[in-house]
Amino acid sequence: MKGIHLKKGKEIPVKRFHPWIFSGAIYKHEGQPKDGDEVKVFDYQQNVIAIGHFYNGSIAVKIFSFQDQEIDYNFWEQKIANALALRNSLPFENTNCYRLLHGEGDGFPGLIIDFYNGVAVLQAHTIGMHLLKETVSKALQKVYGKNLIAIYDKSAETLPKNYATTIQNAYIFGKASVPHAVLENGVTFLINWETGQKTGFFLDQRDNRSLLQKYSKGKTVLNAFCYSGGFSAYALLAGARHVHSVDSSAKAIALAEANIAANIKANTNYPISLAEANIAANIDKKIKGTSQCFNEDVMDFLKKTEVEYEVMILDPPAYAKSFDARHRALQAYKRLNIEGLKKLKPGGILFTFSCSQVVDRDLFYNTIVAAGIEAGRQIRVLHHLSQGADHPVNFYHPEGNYLKGLVLYVD
Ligand code: SAH
Repeated sequence: MKGIHLKKGKEIPVKRFHPWIFSGAIYKHEGQPKDGDEVKVFDYQQNVIAIGHFYNGSIAVKIFSFQDQEIDYNFWEQKIANALALRNSLPFENTNCYRLLHGEGDGFPGLIIDFYNGVAVLQAHTIGMHLLKETVSKALQKVYGKNLIAIYDKSAETLPKNYATTIQNAYIFGKASVPHAVLENGVTFLINWETGQKTGFFLDQRDNRSLLQKYSKGKTVLNAFCYSGGFSAYALLAGARHVHSVDSSAKAIALAEANIAANIKANTNYPISLAEANIAANIDKKIKGTSQCFNEDVMDFLKKTEVEYEVMILDPPAYAKSFDARHRALQAYKRLNIEGLKKLKPGGILFTFSCSQVVDRDLFYNTIVAAGIEAGRQIRVLHHLSQGADHPVNFYHPEGNYLKGLVLYVD
């Protein structure tokens, strides 16, 4: 097997189970590893201390084993069975969609798998993980048995460009038609992984949508950066009076409208199965509020709206994709929250989020404090939020704690 040898002292983070090795920590390569190759990691005393996938970039190795062992089919099947066991232990209610594999959080650095009511959507971020897709497919079929309808590989947009051009998004097992209905806390969503963003849906906000529901009854709600209308559908089902959903993507707005309709009317034009139509019918008429979707830039919308919102969600895309982009990203979070705060009615509730990995919890908090000062509002913190438990954070990889949210009471 190929390998990399670490400089003296660079074994310390590995001994603390951090799953990344930066290129600067490497003293020499052995056997000329190529992108995606499995490599053994040696300390300066020639001991194998880890095994991972190699990539000729700033993060040179992503580790999936901290011992010298045989990496065969059983190794991967065991890891996937372990990930499923964790999900099976979570207190989901009326939910048949969840994240099965959350990269480093499940010992699979570089691989995401979201499970949508029988369909697994796989997104590889490393070449090494993508090369394993047949193994992963076999293991998924084994652990799910007949509960697995299809596996869709959607890695073309997440892999390094030179490799991505050689692959296509495709079903690698079975086939399913889109949109495909799922239930999240009893709320119906129609998922389209083929044309949607990421794997098709933002599962990480499940618990936060549930919490929003408890604050929405009778309220005028703004769901900014709504994507497929997750927060909007929950708010309407909870009896919100008006829900405004804003997104700059026309496709996202179409998804939001479809999802809201699926929850209002059983008889939609969307191909949902009879069982799902019945579920939708059960919640029919519970929605009394009105829904309006706006295909606009959020900042433009906030600046011109004359509505004073009682509940507002600000869930922008990751503004900082890299450490270098962090300062500008913080300014953008601040400007966004200032505008949002200005449009909140006194006594209003703000759900504000950041999903940038490089912006940590304290930095995000301080940025929102700065926005509060500039907006001149008195603010109290009600909740600190994060991603759902099906997006577990590896204890030794704090970077995995990417979703941060605050619920604020704004006077
Ligand atoms: N809250 C959503 C996920 C948001 S993802 C959910 O629960 O599913 C971020 C969304 O912001 C994307 O749909 C993207 O199209 C949208 N977006 C990005 N920049 C925007 C902008 N300047 N104005 C409005 N929407 C924007």
